[in-house]
Amino acid sequence: MLRETTAKSIMTRSQIPGVDYCINPYTGCAHACRYCYADFMKRFTGHTGRWGSFVDAKVNAPTLLEKEVRRKKGGTVMISSVTDPYQPVEKKYRLTRRCLEVLAPHRFSVSILTKSPLVLRDMDLFERFSDIEVGITITTDDDGMRKRFEPGAPPIQERINALKKLYAAGVSTYAFIGPILPMNPERLAKKIAPHVDSVLIDRMNYVPKTLQVYRSMKLTSWLDDDVTEDVMERLIKGLDGIPATLC
Ligand code: SF4
Repeated sequence: MLRETTAKSIMTRSQIPGVDYCINPYTGCAHACRYCYADFMKRFTGHTGRWGSFVDAKVNAPTLLEKEVRRKKGGTVMISSVTDPYQPVEKKYRLTRRCLEVLAPHRFSVSILTKSPLVLRDMDLFERFSDIEVGITITTDDDGMRKRFEPGAPPIQERINALKKLYAAGVSTYAFIGPILPMNPERLAKKIAPHVDSVLIDRMNYVPKTLQVYRSMKLTSWLDDDVTEDVMERLIKGLDGIPATLC
């Protein structure tokens, strides 16, 4: 379900360490990740459907941002924290792109996080920023796992290809390997390492939301702390010197 809404504010103060402001041009996310931490947003929208089945497009986001950005001091802006800024509806609404166009003349550091290669569309804009980084979330090397845990999100290989293009174009890139899903750590590290400046790694922190998926696939052993630690170690080793931070 797609709905057009108007936001009251768009550049909101952030509690995320190292992030001063967040911009979320959409509420809801068609990527429909089973573990999504952002599903609490449902209670602000009146939607009763499952997370992933609705998206609200904040159609006034760019005009609102034009007013708000002048009142903010510099700092780091994250795009986005509770939605994916390049989910499919962005093709039509271009709210993320238009927000970036508003931000470009101002002195903010911008950090983009997405699972979608649609981010490549805006590479021309990235050149206008003196400090911008693009992170792509890649939680596994196994596209079968992706289909079970992130049914609406783009295939893993498309995300890796996007990182490759961004990195080759000189854009600062990072991979967010989180939450760790069942994977071959060495294979994933080998695919990512050539195309990133750094990596963030996080464990599965949303077990109650995903337990049924793990159980149905007989994969609950992947939730053991020892297994998670082992995967993290093997990822770091496989990254072969690329700086990795554990969340
Ligand atoms: S892409 Fe991010 S915001 Fe969207 S459903 Fe997945 S985890 Fe949630």
